[in-house]
Amino acid sequence: MLTIERPLLNQILNHLQACYPLEGCGLLAGDGETGWVTAVYPIENSLHSPTAYQMDPTQQVQAMLDLEARGWQLLAIYHSHPHGPELPSVTDVTLALYPEALYVIVSLQERAVPVVRSFRIAGQAVVEQTMKVVQPSDKNCV
Ligand SMILES: [Zn+2]
Repeated sequence: MLTIERPLLNQILNHLQACYPLEGCGLLAGDGETGWVTAVYPIENSLHSPTAYQMDPTQQVQAMLDLEARGWQLLAIYHSHPHGPELPSVTDVTLALYPEALYVIVSLQERAVPVVRSFRIAGQAVVEQTMKVVQPSDKNCV
């Protein structure tokens, strides 16, 4: 389960729209216990492809070091499907090397109406996960 504040989700969507028609990718960091997202790390897609992505290794390592230094965990890996559905592709399942992280996929098939879904991919098993979008003020609302 992921909980993300609207401005952070917008940061993801803006990044992926900027990459369009190529696939964009990045990392989501946060609290591993609650799934609360605290930061978005856009990473360059070193393949510069409309149908595949590979995170730039240097940027990926920098992001991992940064989030660990802040006491956060890697919660999810996000990427876009500029022309496909918001479901993991065969390649996504095959290359899911981080079973502890969730996979957030954004379909821009209908570009003005992005569709966002998150999945846990372990081996060949794909299970959709809840992704809750909240307003920033909700956190302090008790
Ligand atoms: Zn994909």
